[in-house]
This record gives sequence, structure tokens and C-alpha cells, in this order.
Amino acid sequence: MHELSIAEELLHLIESRAHQEGIKKVDQINLRIGELSGVFPDSLEFAFEVLSKGKITEGAYINIEMVTPKFQCINCGNYTASVVEKCPTCSSSDMNFSGGDELEIISFEGD
Ligand SMILES: [Zn+2]
Repeated sequence: MHELSIAEELLHLIESRAHQEGIKKVDQINLRIGELSGVFPDSLEFAFEVLSKGKITEGAYINIEMVTPKFQCINCGNYTASVVEKCPTCSSSDMNFSGGDELEIISFEGD
């Protein structure tokens, strides 16, 4: 279950940042996860909660924002939200992924 190692990594990041900012108890964590990252939000949340026992993040609310990938036309720069073979604007077939593989901590709150 690779969510466990991701949760571990996130926890380390939050702990060290919280330490730098003098935060002793984290109340809320805001995460951004791309749909293409292969991470299951529920599993990540669960793993995080388990790892948080006795840590500064214990009982913290985890807010997850899912990010949908976008396709961008290399030719004209037009964005489209769905998978298309050709750009609806200029009919070019040079489409590129943009986003959707994010896994990041947007922010966290506490005192
Ligand atoms: Zn185009």
C-alpha cells in the first residue's frame, strides 16, 4: 500500500514545517491530489490518521482537493477538460497533459 509511505512523507514534512513555525498542534491539513497520481484519498487519509497517533497531527482534519487533468493544445494553447484526439479550436492533434499528477500540501493550520 503505497499510500502509507506517502502519508509518512507528508507527516515528516508537516512536522518539520510546524516545528519551524512554532506550531504544536495541527488542526487542519489541506492537500491537493491529482486524479492521475494513483493515490486513493480514502486510503491516504486512513494511513495518515493511523500514523498521526501521538503526533502533532493527531485528530487533524484532512481536507483533500482533487485535481482533474487538463489537456492543452501545443499548437494554440487551448485547454480542454476531457480526453480528445484533436483540439476543438484548431484541430491540431498535438495535445499534452497538464496537471492531474499533483500530490502536495497546500497548507496546514494549527497553533
Ligand atoms: Zn489548438
